[in-house]
Amino acid sequence: MNVADSEVVASILSDSGYKLTDTINNAELILINTCSIRENAEQRVWGRLDFIKNLKRKKPEIVVGVIGCMAERLKEKLIETDKLVDIVVGPDAYRGLPLLVAEAESGNKGVNVLLSREETYADISPVRMDKNGVTSFISIMRGCNNMCAYCVVPYVRGAERSRNPESIINEATDLFEKGYREVTLIGQNVDSYIWKNDIQTIRFPELLEKVALVNPKLRVRFSTSHPKDLSDELLLTMIRYENICRHIHLPAQSGSSRILKLMNREYTREWYMDRITAIKKIIPDCSISTDMITGFCTETEEDHEESLSLMEWAEFDFAYMFKYSERPGTKAARKYKDDVSEEIKALRLNEIISLQNRLSARSKKTDVGTIQEVLIEGTSKRSASQLYGRNSQNKVVVFPKGDSVKGEYIRVFIEKSTSATLIGKNI
Ligand code: SAH
Ligand code: SF4
Repeated sequence: MNVADSEVVASILSDSGYKLTDTINNAELILINTCSIRENAEQRVWGRLDFIKNLKRKKPEIVVGVIGCMAERLKEKLIETDKLVDIVVGPDAYRGLPLLVAEAESGNKGVNVLLSREETYADISPVRMDKNGVTSFISIMRGCNNMCAYCVVPYVRGAERSRNPESIINEATDLFEKGYREVTLIGQNVDSYIWKNDIQTIRFPELLEKVALVNPKLRVRFSTSHPKDLSDELLLTMIRYENICRHIHLPAQSGSSRILKLMNREYTREWYMDRITAIKKIIPDCSISTDMITGFCTETEEDHEESLSLMEWAEFDFAYMFKYSERPGTKAARKYKDDVSEEIKALRLNEIISLQNRLSARSKKTDVGTIQEVLIEGTSKRSASQLYGRNSQNKVVVFPKGDSVKGEYIRVFIEKSTSATLIGKNI
C-alpha cells in the first residue's frame, strides 16, 4: 500500500519539476511515508526522524515532510513534537504537496490531513520505484469500511472508495507494454471493490477478469481478501485464467470465534473454514497465506490453542504474524483492556511462528520433484550466479543463471527446499 502511495507522490512531485534521488545526502526534500498499523512501525519513523535531524543540522535548507497514516493520526503534533518536521500530509491530500513544499521552502510549515470520500488518484500515473521492472502494484481502492476493533486503518485512511476500472486497466496495459509481467491489485478488502456508473456495475471478479485479459503473459495477483466477502464467484473466475495466480491471502487473525467476535471481524471459525474448503475444492493447487494476531484483549490459552489448530488444519503456506498492539482511538483501545501481558504475547507469538515455520517447510517440500513455471525477477541476493523468481503460488524459486533474463518465464525442476525457498535447475 505504501509503495503504491509513494509512487503516486513521486508522480505528483515530478510533474512539479522534482527529481528522485537514491542518495539521501543529495536530497533537498525528504518525505517519510509512514504506517500506523502497529506501534513499532511508528517507533521506526521516530528513529528515522532522529537520523534526518543530523542531516538537517548540516544542511538547514532541506524540507522534511511526514506523509501517510502517521501524518493523519498525529497531525500538527508532528510539527510541535519534533521541530524538524516542516510538512505533514495525510493519504488523501497528496495533490496539495507541491504547494505545501513551496510554502515550506519559504519558511512556512504546513499541514493538510483532510480525508476524502472520492480521492483515488485514478488519473495519476505512478512513477515506478520498484527497481526490478518486472512486478508492480496497482492500487484499486483506498480506505476501509470495516471496523475491526484493533485496527487504525479506517481512521487514518478514511472510507472505502473504488477506483475507476478503466484507469486500472490502462495502468496494467501500460505496465505490460513497458516490460512488466506481473501486477498485484491492492486494496484493504479487494472483495468489496465496486464501481458503478449509469450503464454498469463492476465488482471484483469482473475487474480481475478484465485485468487478466490485458495479456495472457501478464500475471495477476491481488491482496487482501476478507474472509467475510470472499465469494465462490471469485474462485470460479480465478480458475478460468491461467495468468491469475494460484494464491490467496486470507487473513484469519484468530482461530477462536469468541475472539473474532470481539475483533468485529464478522465471521466465525466455521465460516473461515468453509471459505478455505471452498478454495481447496475449486482451486486445488491454490496456496493460501494468512495474518494472525496473538494476545488480543481477553485471549485465553484455549483461544490461542484454537488459533494453532486452525493454522494446522488450514495448512497455511505462509503467514504474517503479529503481537497485538493497542492503537489509540480504535474500538479495542476505547472499550477493552489490553490485558494479555507482553510475556504471554511473545510466548504465543513464538509458538505460532514455530508452527508456521513447520507448515511453510512442509508446503515447500511438496514441490520437490515437480516442475514449476517461474517468472524471473532478478539475481539472487545470496549469489550472483543464481536467479530468483516466483511460481504462481507465490513461492520463491532460486536456480542457476544460464541464459535467461528477468521478465522471462522459465520452467524449473525443483531439487530441494527450505522453509522459505524452492531450489532447482532450469530445464
Ligand atoms: N485489510 C487487511 C489487513 C490490513 S492491516 C485485512 O483486513 O486483513 C495488516 C495486518 O496487520 C492485519 O491483517 C492484522 O493482522 C495486523 N494488524 C492490524 N492492526 C493491528 C494491531 N493493532 N496489532 C497487531 N496487528 C495488527
Ligand atoms: Fe483494518 Fe479490518 Fe479494514 Fe483490514 S478490514 S484494514 S484489518 S479495519
